Amino acid sequence: MNGGAAAPPRLWKMGGKVVSLDEKCSRCRRDAEITLRYAGQSLCRQHFIRFFDARVLRTVRKYRMLEKGSLVAVGLSGGKDSTVMLHLLCKISKSLPIRLVAITIDEGIAGYRPHTLSVAKRECGKLGVPLRVFSFKKLYGKTLDALLKEKGAKRACSFCGVMRRDALNRAAREIGADRLAIGHNADDVAQTVMMNYMRNEPERLWRFAPVSGLVEERALAKRIKPLFATPERDIAAYAMMKGIGVHFQECPYANSAFRQHVRSMLNATEEKYPATKMRIVRAFLSQLGPMQSAARKNLAKDGKGKIGRCGICGEPASGKGKTCSLCRMLKAEG
Ligand code: SF4
Repeated sequence: MNGGAAAPPRLWKMGGKVVSLDEKCSRCRRDAEITLRYAGQSLCRQHFIRFFDARVLRTVRKYRMLEKGSLVAVGLSGGKDSTVMLHLLCKISKSLPIRLVAITIDEGIAGYRPHTLSVAKRECGKLGVPLRVFSFKKLYGKTLDALLKEKGAKRACSFCGVMRRDALNRAAREIGADRLAIGHNADDVAQTVMMNYMRNEPERLWRFAPVSGLVEERALAKRIKPLFATPERDIAAYAMMKGIGVHFQECPYANSAFRQHVRSMLNATEEKYPATKMRIVRAFLSQLGPMQSAARKNLAKDGKGKIGRCGICGEPASGKGKTCSLCRMLKAEG
């Protein structure tokens, strides 16, 4: 964001065209507050907010994320992405009759989760959205801190991610939601795409679609990602401009993740070659249809597409009598 000081016009190349970015809003010539290099625009506060809202609404409509009467469980961590998403869904609910219930998963991460929980409570109070908190301790008998210590699990995020997914599904089911809104943003998508290629696991990418799930299953709410096409930096700027109090501290386990490495690499590339992340998102979307068709065929061929119940915990699992990924993981970690 600009500090308001005058600066010489900047030039950069976008799609073969040289674009000038100055300190004035590209739309109204008022003082610009943000420069979106990936879009070749500088915008004032009012036009940035309009641009931001319109893009989220376009994403929601394009992928038919919401329906009249939907009960949406909003995964709310108290971080910037999910808090901004809650505000946007509230705004949308003024013109489309949907009901919202926020759900927060308390993994039990000392020194981190209590702060974000208080943000979640405060924002829900302001917006009049009911909040339900589900803890690992209650669901699985132990906090994440205790589990990681006990099992010596090296990849905290892989471990926690599977548990969080399970916890969110259980929570959405308990409140009877037919949609589960997740605050994944365009940076998350670009990172996930790169990580899957770097791990040589491109066949798993179809799972990260704007609306997840190739197989309809009553026990699983449809996952929707309204911020799918919105860069992380824009979300932070939007939160600041709208005065949405969010928590910017990172989870203490996040630093050790492979994702963190890919994130830094993409940020450095974006700095030098603006719009790289958005191009990765677009490339992914252009391949999504064929990826989903191939995945559907494979699932039908080997019967994995049938959702059964986990033989251990009774939660949804691929194939009848199979073990779900959480129970498999807990078993493997000993
Ligand atoms: Fe869990 Fe990793 Fe997210 Fe922390 S950063 S909450 S450990 S998934």
